[in-house]
Amino acid sequence: MDKKEMIYLDNAATTRTLPQAVQAMLPWLSDNYGNASSIYRLGEESRKVISQARRQIADSLHGEPSEIYFTSGGTEADNWALIAGAEACAFKGKHIITSKIEHHGVLHTCEYLEKRGFQVTYVGVDGNGIVNLQELEAAIRPDTILISVMFANNEIGTLQPIGEIGKLARERGILFHTDAVQAYGHLPIDVEALSIDLLSASGHKLGGPKGIGFLYVKKGTKLGAFLHGGAQEQGKRAGTENVPAIAGLGAAVAHAFSDMEGQAGKVEGLRDYLIEKIEKEIPYCRLNGHREKRLPNNVNFSFQFIEGESLLIMLDMKGICASSGSACTSGALDPSHVLLAIGLPHEIAHGSLRLTLGVDNTKEEMDRTVQAIKEIVEKLRRMSPLYEDFVKGQGSPKAAS
Ligand SMILES: *Cc1c(COP(=O)(O)O)cnc(C)c1O
Repeated sequence: MDKKEMIYLDNAATTRTLPQAVQAMLPWLSDNYGNASSIYRLGEESRKVISQARRQIADSLHGEPSEIYFTSGGTEADNWALIAGAEACAFKGKHIITSKIEHHGVLHTCEYLEKRGFQVTYVGVDGNGIVNLQELEAAIRPDTILISVMFANNEIGTLQPIGEIGKLARERGILFHTDAVQAYGHLPIDVEALSIDLLSASGHKLGGPKGIGFLYVKKGTKLGAFLHGGAQEQGKRAGTENVPAIAGLGAAVAHAFSDMEGQAGKVEGLRDYLIEKIEKEIPYCRLNGHREKRLPNNVNFSFQFIEGESLLIMLDMKGICASSGSACTSGALDPSHVLLAIGLPHEIAHGSLRLTLGVDNTKEEMDRTVQAIKEIVEKLRRMSPLYEDFVKGQGSPKAAS
């Protein structure tokens, strides 16, 4: 399709690879192919670009280079943190606490750990999607070894009270992991100030390439190796380093942190404009997630009487890329676990739309998007028997009085 005409509003799924990241990768895909473990100069060059990226990432989090381990992405970092974290602390207990709104990288790993003899408490969230701190604190037991709560939710954008949770965990000597894939590179994160022991991030959510991410592991945390083999990543994540992707991630991180406030401010302005306009122009809609405590780029709405999937397909025909609140699992459309956790009934959750903005989006694109949603929603509602009943009900003597 013609990319120039397209409106891309799915930055929570992935971002456009920044030209700076592409440029930074090119040499390592061609002339500079040396293995970073080799002692000759060609290998030395690869080693250098890896340590440069590692230092940039460490600085960006207020950590140290020895605390950064490159992985194949956010999913691997989540798996490693939870599985190795649980194994390392199993001698103290077998209880883990997480939230009901985690990414599947965390949730499905917790389910795996349950099969391996661990017990997991899934803490609920309030109507805005914020983890209930009292419930979390009450869930802590003498045998709790690990708490994992995401920094920001990928569907509804809500920001979690990470500092408070970190403090609760630190005071009790419980390992604390946060999946910061949606937040890292978009919001400032200080691992020291927030008492974070383990943090996952991913390159392709901040303008870097796909297939690269990292796990931050606080110094002194006893975490076993995830991949066994060579001595790469301090012997904890074996396998020849993905030098081009690491170089690209480094460039994306440098770009993200060079003007984080400016970029977040611009995106936030567009976000608020879009939210306001949708609420003004389209009846029977509901903003999901907290109005203020949300990612600068996240917009998530439920539209009554329609199917999110139909809306998505019709938006795609108009060149707009967005995402719904349903996950297509084995042919059946299940409403998202996040929307159910904030208390939405199934039929409302089904009519959900996620729009996640980027710094390249324009106000004009927001206008075109609202116009498109408005037309499609009206069209879908005209075909909906539920909507017809609703309108008839409104015209009844009771509603008219
Ligand atoms: C995208 C995402 C992941 C997975 O990261 P990958 O690098 O694609 O494996 C994990 N957690 C959250 C919150 C995400 O948004």
